[in-house]
Amino acid sequence: MEWVMPPFMSAGAPVPRRHLPAPGPQPQPMLPPGTFTCPQCQRKTLEERFVQALRVCPSCGHHARVPASERLMQLADADTLTTVPLDFPIVDPLAFDDGVPYRERVLKARTSTGLGDAFAVGTCTIGGHPVVVAAMEFSFFGGSLGQSAGDSFLRACSIARDEHRALIAVCTSGGARMQEGIVSLSQMARCSAGVVALGHENLPYITVLTDPCYGGVTASFATQGDVIIAEPHARIGFAGGRVIEQATYDKLPHGFQTAEFLLAHGMLDAVVARAMLQKTLGTTLAALTHHEVMNRG
Ligand SMILES: [Zn+2]
Repeated sequence: MEWVMPPFMSAGAPVPRRHLPAPGPQPQPMLPPGTFTCPQCQRKTLEERFVQALRVCPSCGHHARVPASERLMQLADADTLTTVPLDFPIVDPLAFDDGVPYRERVLKARTSTGLGDAFAVGTCTIGGHPVVVAAMEFSFFGGSLGQSAGDSFLRACSIARDEHRALIAVCTSGGARMQEGIVSLSQMARCSAGVVALGHENLPYITVLTDPCYGGVTASFATQGDVIIAEPHARIGFAGGRVIEQATYDKLPHGFQTAEFLLAHGMLDAVVARAMLQKTLGTTLAALTHHEVMNRG
C-alpha cells in the first residue's frame, strides 16, 4: 500500500495546532474542575455539593470560609434578601506603597471579590424577623478594618435604626488595616458607637464569629453583641498565641483561642454548627423581640 504524506507535512502547509508541542512546562494532572479538597481530612467533594452543604465538609464537618455574599443567602429566608450597595471612596491617608500602591491593591480586591470593601450588607428576614445582615469577607484584605469597612458597618447600623431591624454581624478578620494607619484604629470606636446607637433603640444585635476572627474586630463590634455566637472550631482572639507567649513569657493552654475554649470560659453564648445557624438566629431573635415587647409593655 502506498503511504500518502498527510497534507500538513507538505512543505509550506500550515501545521495543525494539535501536532505542535505544548509551549512551556507540561500541565500537571489536575482534579476535575469544581472539586473541593478538605484541608482537614483531605477528602474531595464536588464544589456544587460542597456549596449546597453550606461549605461544610460532608466527611468530617470542617467549616470552610464562606464568601460574604453567599453568607447573606445562607442566612436569609427565601426570597427576602435585598443587598445594599456600598460604594465608599478609597481612603489612603498615608499614600501607602509597599511596592504596589495601596489604592491599586484595593481596586484589585474590589475586582476579585465584587465588593466595595470587606463587607457585604443586605436586608432580609430570618425566621420571619426583619434584620440587616453585615457579613465580612476575609478575602478582601484579610477582612481587615479600614475606613470603608467601618463606613459599611455603620451603614448597616443606620439601616437597622431607620427600618427598625435587628442587626446580625458575621465577623471574620485579621484585624486593623495597617495600610491606613491610625485611621484604621479609629474604626473600632466608630463601629462601637454604631452598636451603642442600636442599643438606644432597643434593637437586637447578634454577632456570629467565624474562623478566623482577630484584632480590632474582635476587640470592638464582634464581641459587643447582645448574643455572641461562634462557629465550631473558629479561631478567635486579639493577638496571635505566639505574640502573647513572647510578651508574657508564659505557656498558653492548648486550644485557648478556639470557639469551644472561649465558650467553656464564658466568653461566648453558644457554638452553633452552620447547618443550625439560621434556625438558631431565628429563635434568638424571637426571644429578644419578645423581651423587647415585654419591656415596652
Ligand atoms: Zn473534611
